[in-house]
Amino acid sequence: MPSYSQLLAQISDGGVKELVLVPSRREVIATLSSGERVTVPVFADDQQILRTAESAGVPLTVRDTRQQEAMAGLFTNGALVLLLIVGLSLLLRRSAQVANKAMGFARSQPRLQPEGDVSIRFDDVAGINEAKEELQEVVSFLKEPDRFTRVGARIPKGVLLVGPPGTGKTLLARAIAGEAGVPFFSMAASEFVELFVGVGASRVRDLFRKAKEKAPCIIFIDEIDAVGRQRGAGIGGGNDEREQTLNQLLTEMDGFEENSGVILLAATNRPDVLDTALMRPGRFDRQIVVDLPDRRGREAILAVHARTRPLADEVSLAQWASRTPGFSGADLSNLLNEAAILTARRQQRQIGNDCLHDALERITMGLTAAPLQDSAKKRLIAYHEVGHALITTLLPDADQLDKVTLLPRSGGVGGFARTTPDEDVLDSGLISRAYLRARLVVAMGGRAAELVVFGPSEVTQGASSDLQLVSRICREMVTRYGFSSLGPQALESDGGEVFLGRDLVHTRPHYAERTGRQIDLHIQGLARQALQEAVALLEPRQALMDQLVDALIEQETLEGETVRAMVAAFDRQGSPDPDAAGAPDRTADPVALRS
Ligand code: ADP
Repeated sequence: MPSYSQLLAQISDGGVKELVLVPSRREVIATLSSGERVTVPVFADDQQILRTAESAGVPLTVRDTRQQEAMAGLFTNGALVLLLIVGLSLLLRRSAQVANKAMGFARSQPRLQPEGDVSIRFDDVAGINEAKEELQEVVSFLKEPDRFTRVGARIPKGVLLVGPPGTGKTLLARAIAGEAGVPFFSMAASEFVELFVGVGASRVRDLFRKAKEKAPCIIFIDEIDAVGRQRGAGIGGGNDEREQTLNQLLTEMDGFEENSGVILLAATNRPDVLDTALMRPGRFDRQIVVDLPDRRGREAILAVHARTRPLADEVSLAQWASRTPGFSGADLSNLLNEAAILTARRQQRQIGNDCLHDALERITMGLTAAPLQDSAKKRLIAYHEVGHALITTLLPDADQLDKVTLLPRSGGVGGFARTTPDEDVLDSGLISRAYLRARLVVAMGGRAAELVVFGPSEVTQGASSDLQLVSRICREMVTRYGFSSLGPQALESDGGEVFLGRDLVHTRPHYAERTGRQIDLHIQGLARQALQEAVALLEPRQALMDQLVDALIEQETLEGETVRAMVAAFDRQGSPDPDAAGAPDRTADPVALRS
């Protein structure tokens, strides 16, 4: 290839036939007289070659390649745009699929049971007769609406079932549907609220639409407090998903016409946190309390669950009902089930008292652990438990001793003294000052026994949970029940769950700092007094404690009856006068004051 100057010389010499200048590529294509084609780079705005060509008379063509380049550019751009469109459409299709799924989420799939499918009847629900009677009316509404509408009665739209968990609220709702023979829609309120904003509201709409198609029917919403909490009580504004769901629920309840045959039942154990708008007439205008069953109720519930389980003749349900105070329907059903499992494991044919007994122990105290070997530790635990048991037996205001045992349970419990709560106290919910004081002394019994027998430096931390209980009772006595010389004032409210964002900001003690100090002093005083009383009761009965501990270590479990008999025998032998024993104060120990 010739150089630029060679090319110029060749042009002048007439050695070049033709020139083609391509400015965009800054080159010139020269056809030599030999026919050969050469490409030579030139300057961008080359005048020299033009002039030389002109003077030599060589034909020169300028080739404009811009159009070709433009075409090529267009082509590449076009391809890019096409690629982009294809990519976008793929992406769109993917997100449309996701959106479709989201819309599918919104559509609730209530567990719709076709008519007559609900097999539960009122007979299957026992022990909550008042609630049952109230709800009987709802069944009549559903069965014969005409009877009520003829005389202008308005059928209630919503019924709120209020009560602790496991008392049979869901069961009652199902029984209503079963008795009336109507479809039963059931949903937990937490199912409304989902990941996507607005889904809760649309689920509510969907549920009501479906229910209206199937009217007359029952909609049951469990744990309604999950969506029905007071609005405006959350941190971060009042426009969250839950509130939208609640608003939709309120709108739907207003929206369905009177007497449409759809009855909404909802259950909660926290009626205090519900939004007041839910409770106004025309919405949940009826509240029915479903409480823990009393003794007769428990017997009836046990009888319901014993229908399908073979009980031995020795089993008296009345007796088991009185042994299970505070149990809910679900607990009782669980008790029979555990007993049935144990029966099967022991290859017996009928559920006997021993299986029920073990099942109860398992439910209330946890699984049994391996028995203690270490005899010194075992003796200490024995004295501790005997302390509780003895004081329970000695104090007339305390609960009755059920049994005291040294069989350890999983969770670090070395042994325990169990009492049977007083049925009256439990059913009425009224607790006297004397009863609480007796509980304090009983709770201090373990620590007192250790003090009396082993001395102040040998006491163990085994009483820590007792001390927590003592502190809690003392604090409640002073600050809530007015049981102290501080006077009849409620200084603290019951420690319910705070509403984040409302109570967290506004809750502060309702008393002065000085009163706070007095409260602490009174709590200390009550706790110390209880410990002194416990020591005063045990000190003159050391010999009896030794007897009880020997018996307990030998037998591992002593029934309440046995302990009572031993105490009575000891008293008959003529114990020294308990009050005459001028015991030194061994109680100046620190007492855990915070639970
Ligand atoms: P809740 O809805 O109040 O939490 P459930 O209705 O779900 O309680 O009760 C759970 C189970 O406990 C029921 O399926 C039933 O077996 C048993 N149960 C609870 N209360 C009763 C009762 N009053 N009569 C018979 N069984 C009961």
